[in-house]
Amino acid sequence: MNNNLPESNAGRYFIFGEGRISGYIATLLGVSALLGVLCFRYPEYLTTAEMRANLYSFEFVRNLLWGAIFVAFLLGIVSYILNPEKKLALAGVTSAFIAVLLGAFQVQERAVNPTHISFGVDWFVLALIFSMLIFIPLEKAFAQKPLQVLRPHWRTDLVYFFISHLLIQFYLLFTNYIHQDLLGWAQIQSVQQFAKALPTVVQIFCCVLVADFFQAVTHKWYHEVSWLWKFHAIHHSSEHLDWLAGSRTHFVESLLTRTAVVVPLYLVGFSVEALNVYVVIIGVQAVFVHANVNWDFGFLKYLIVTPQYHHWHHSDDPQYANTNYAVHLPVIDMLLGTFKLPSTMWPTSYGVFDSPPPDGFTKQLVYPFK
Ligand SMILES: [Zn+2]
Ligand SMILES: [Zn+2]
Repeated sequence: MNNNLPESNAGRYFIFGEGRISGYIATLLGVSALLGVLCFRYPEYLTTAEMRANLYSFEFVRNLLWGAIFVAFLLGIVSYILNPEKKLALAGVTSAFIAVLLGAFQVQERAVNPTHISFGVDWFVLALIFSMLIFIPLEKAFAQKPLQVLRPHWRTDLVYFFISHLLIQFYLLFTNYIHQDLLGWAQIQSVQQFAKALPTVVQIFCCVLVADFFQAVTHKWYHEVSWLWKFHAIHHSSEHLDWLAGSRTHFVESLLTRTAVVVPLYLVGFSVEALNVYVVIIGVQAVFVHANVNWDFGFLKYLIVTPQYHHWHHSDDPQYANTNYAVHLPVIDMLLGTFKLPSTMWPTSYGVFDSPPPDGFTKQLVYPFK
């Protein structure tokens, strides 16, 4: 904010700043609206059946689309007036305008023909908008470290966020193939009947416990086996931790870890309701533990994994290398002998202390194969 503003401009700067943030929001919503209208036009290829069935209704996403277009136009105009740099405003307004031209106000609900494979563009747009709505205000209000929303390397992490959401159905197909076709023989009916008969709350807790145990053991291997570490080093290469930083994961690691976690859950045979709740818990907690939020949590930090706990896992202090593998329950690390949590301190810096991977999505994609 410029402190030497002319008095007549003070009011507008107080409300809308210099038109930079409004320009970014207009661009985000304009591009989201454009992707959204493409999802309505080509749902067979750009949306996933699981998301359509479980995540949203037609009315909800249609109203969201209309709201995004309205706000993109409004903030685009505000940014155009206030910001000497017009590119963001034009990008927001233009993409919203194209969304309107492509029929955003004429979308209608229709049956979607099943396809073998599709991209999760719907999942990407919804996850991005709602993650930003939740985590940006939280990180502004309770920042552990001073950090801009658009901090260094945010573009790299946004690409990871985009790719991982886009490929959601490939991950689902892969884990289905492993547990149904390759490991179908390992399903024991009596175990599955016992698991399904447990109260749902108990099943959810068991899901979290089983999943976190397999996650932590796999995670430990990533740290201890040198060729696996090259994949996992990408995740640790973030030097600025916030809600978006957790997305930085090599697709090979995502694929292997998801398989190692989800396949045991299927084999034990928990109910669909328990698995759905677990998916929500891991979705929220995997983002939250990276967030730049200074909450202490008191004694709860010894029972559930908090941002402080996982931030120590990302510390570039060699004393903390190979500790705190759990994502849900610190008790797993206590059992593995890898629990290490100072009561109130936080790491001063993050990253890989020895031979860090290169910057940038493409270089990081090929780095583990070299
Ligand atoms: Zn790690
Ligand atoms: Zn992490």
